[in-house]
Amino acid sequence: MSSRWADALRHALPLRLGLWYAALFAVSAAALLVFTYALLARTLAAQDHDVLASMLSRYALEYQRAGLGGLQRLVQADALEGRHERLLVRVVAGRAEVIYASQPRDWRAVDLASVEALRRGSPWMLQASPIDGSTLEIGTVELPDGVRVQVGRTSHVRDEVLAQFRARAVQVGVLLAAIAAGGGVVIALVGLAPIRALDATTREILETRRFDARVATRGTADPLDRLGARINEMLGQIQRLVGGMRGALDNVAHDLRTPLTRFRNVAEAALTQGDEAAVRDGLAQALEEADRLGATLTTLMDISEAETGTMRLAVAAVAVAVVVDEAIALYADEAEDRGLALTSAVPPGLQVRADHTRLRQVLANLIENAVKYTPSGGRVDVAAAADDDGATVTIRVRDTGMGIAATDLPLVWDRLYRADASRSARGLGLGLSLVKAVVEAHGGRVGVTSAVGEGSTFAVTLPAAPA
Ligand code: ADP
Repeated sequence: MSSRWADALRHALPLRLGLWYAALFAVSAAALLVFTYALLARTLAAQDHDVLASMLSRYALEYQRAGLGGLQRLVQADALEGRHERLLVRVVAGRAEVIYASQPRDWRAVDLASVEALRRGSPWMLQASPIDGSTLEIGTVELPDGVRVQVGRTSHVRDEVLAQFRARAVQVGVLLAAIAAGGGVVIALVGLAPIRALDATTREILETRRFDARVATRGTADPLDRLGARINEMLGQIQRLVGGMRGALDNVAHDLRTPLTRFRNVAEAALTQGDEAAVRDGLAQALEEADRLGATLTTLMDISEAETGTMRLAVAAVAVAVVVDEAIALYADEAEDRGLALTSAVPPGLQVRADHTRLRQVLANLIENAVKYTPSGGRVDVAAAADDDGATVTIRVRDTGMGIAATDLPLVWDRLYRADASRSARGLGLGLSLVKAVVEAHGGRVGVTSAVGEGSTFAVTLPAAPA
């Protein structure tokens, strides 16, 4: 086979699978045919031997009952009746004196002298026929007076049956192999259809760079269908992430452009007016914007550090009441301005194992969101309690705000994800990603429950520190 053909075969998976299938099938079919042939050959031989044995005893009895004449009449009567092909019948006396022989035509060329070599022992003397290669089978019985009666037959009838079987078996074998090869290729083609669909979809994505293509699934829940569903899930996640990153880039660009324009205007005004107070004011504003940008970049880096486990955490026993009060203090004014009640209820001795600054940052993010997404007149309550097993402490930030739709709920932790309902508020969609990453870096976990229009409760669970 040329190497081009070999290459083509290596790449044609259905053909290869089909050929393997055909090979296995052909081997099994061949084994079955060989087994059947052996069984048939044994059965036919046993039948022939039964005939020989019964004729031998029939003639021996007749010889004993009615002598050589009686035997002769019986052999002739049997031959006339034509019950089976003619048998060799001989009566031998002494060492090798043939006193009677009925020898069918088939046996003429056979050297029967060697038959005399047969004595007791093996019941059948076997000898290849010089005429057609069939086997001559001769049985002998020795009577009390030393006379031996011999009956023989050739195996050519059963040889013919077996030869026909062999010819048919080869035909059937070839037919089965062809069916197996064709069937194998078809089965492999049908079975590999989902993989081809996967291949086509991924190629389309690679070529068009569009992540909205999906693999067709049949909902059969077989492994290939599940793989297709997983890939679709993955594509959905990638699509969301890419969408989020695009949105974030827009936000970052927007957030950069505004302070830059403002900075430019201030610089321009300061240059044209030469007024020292205006220059100072403009520089102060520019510093503020620069700080905000710096904070966003820091958050992005913090998230990757926390997620990759490279964030340095100064873990110690932290009094929950203290850190909650610190975080609340950061938003007390804003809450008051917006007409929100901001309260805390934390048992005094409650402690967690955490990095104090990071925990404050986590709580500040949750309180900021609660304040941001709760209309005036609402409430934001922070509470903490030890969990039932005493090994962990859960801090909850509950608000009576706009709530989060059930479809958005699992996604709010994703980096750059912002629910549509909250687009009007400022934000980059990084706060909750940071919360989750930092809490998990502490060996803790986060959770959220929410009802649209009623409010949300964010929970942070951390390892407890003994008081
Ligand atoms: P953002 O900067 O947009 O607040 P976050 O990561 O903090 O980013 O929050 C992600 C999204 O989760 C928000 O855009 C908002 O849709 C939703 N969200 C977070 N906290 C609340 C809350 N307390 N009430 C309602 N929606 C919330």
